[in-house]
This record gives sequence, structure tokens and C-alpha cells, in this order.
Amino acid sequence: MIGHLINTDIGNRGVLELYLDYRRQNFNFLHNSAEMLLNNCENVLVITGFPIPPMQQAETDGPPGALAVYRAVERLGGKAEILTYPEVKNALEPFGPRFASAPEISDYSLVIAIETPGRASDGKYYSMSGLEITRETFDWAVIKARELGIPTIGIGDGGNEAGMGKIRELVKKHIPHGEKIGSVVETDELIVSAVSNWGAYGLIAQVSIESGKNLFGNWEERRVTEAAVGAGLIDGVSKKIEVSVDGISIGLHEKMVELLKGIIQEKLR
Ligand code: MG
Ligand code: MG
Repeated sequence: MIGHLINTDIGNRGVLELYLDYRRQNFNFLHNSAEMLLNNCENVLVITGFPIPPMQQAETDGPPGALAVYRAVERLGGKAEILTYPEVKNALEPFGPRFASAPEISDYSLVIAIETPGRASDGKYYSMSGLEITRETFDWAVIKARELGIPTIGIGDGGNEAGMGKIRELVKKHIPHGEKIGSVVETDELIVSAVSNWGAYGLIAQVSIESGKNLFGNWEERRVTEAAVGAGLIDGVSKKIEVSVDGISIGLHEKMVELLKGIIQEKLR
């Protein structure tokens, strides 16, 4: 149910068919991810930030979702740190999360990658349109966690993010330039969504329902997105500095959050 909602493909970017095919393979992907978070929330590394070529400036999709997941982990009684780009750090700093700078992956109980580049089959990193990403990337942390047997969750919306390697064949089938841009970096669990922030919010909603605790608190979508834009983050689709995410106006993102909050309240009544 929540899986359908967060995959409403308003931007028409091909994720709907990807999602429907993925859902046939892994019907319970949200439940499985929620369970993984609930069972491993002691010390969570949340990775986010996606530089958009040609400017290589980080986008507004990802950081709000990462902050919301960070807070949900704290509400569950766990600890979290965020690994990201300097401008994303500036954007999220006013909200007070702890950041990782040179993380020792073996210290963590769970690694969650939310909208961050995952290397493609040629070892490079690409935008949806096939332009190369030339900045520092963080998918090494996911690869390292997998080597160490530490659980990993990926959240993405295009096929080029860390985690999407889990469904690389579906990315090749459904996403334009999928063969070139599709990441080979896998996570144990993977959440596909139309906007990666929605994937993060969907995870929080699912964990809320399964734990019986409303983990959204007083989340303010507009305030966080405005702070992100104030720090220079750009809309990844329009490539402009504007208060929107993935080319979709902020009002619609607020409504998506309200709907998810409403579903939680209804379920926990
Ligand atoms: Mg994306
Ligand atoms: Mg996105």
C-alpha cells in the first residue's frame, strides 16, 4: 500500500514499471527494510547526497529523507550519523544531526544509502542523462559494509544510486541509458520510489506502523527543503536553485508527507 503511494511516478521517469517488476520479485520490500532497521538501529550510518552534473552540485532529493531517517532512529532509541557532502552538511546542520567525517564502517550496526551515486559497470558514476559525476562518492561505505557482513539498505529512484545493483537487470530493461548508468552496487534491502525522499518517508511510515510509534514527529517538509535550497542545493531535474525536489513542487511533497502521517495515525488508532 505505502509502496504504491511512494512510487506514484509524477515525474514520468520510468520508475513505475521498474517498481511493478521489482515488486513481483520482492513483494515485501518495505516490510523487510523496516524489519532490518528495527533490528539494527543501535548505530546507523546514513549516507546521502547526489551531485548533479555539469555543476556537480548536490540536489534537494536525499538530504531531507536522510534527516528524517536520522530522527526516526533516535526516536527508536538508537544513534545515527550522516555521511555527506559539505553543502548538504551546511543544509542539515541547523537541525542538529551528528555527522560522520571518516567513518570506521565496522563501528556501525546498519548502513542506509539514500540517493547517493553508486558506481556503474565501468567503475564510473553517472547522472540519469548519462553525464559523468566527478566528485567524491560514498558507495565505498556500502561495499565495505557488505564485506563486513553489516546490514545495508539502499533507497533510490533512478537506477544510478548505491543499492540499485540489486536490480540491475530491471534497470537495464526499464530506465533510459540503464545499461550505462545503472549501478552495480548492491544492498541487502532496496527501496524503489518515485522520489528518494519519499522512499525514506515510506520506510519511516512502515517502521512506525510495525513498531507502534509515530516516528515522523512534527516533520516539516517545507522548512527542511527551504534550508537545503538556502545552502545551495539544487533541484536535480530542473537543475535550478528552487524550493522543489525532482522537478515536483514543494506543495506536493508536503501533501505526500501529510498522507503518510495520516496513514500512520489511522493505523495506530
Ligand atoms: Mg535518483
Ligand atoms: Mg530523485
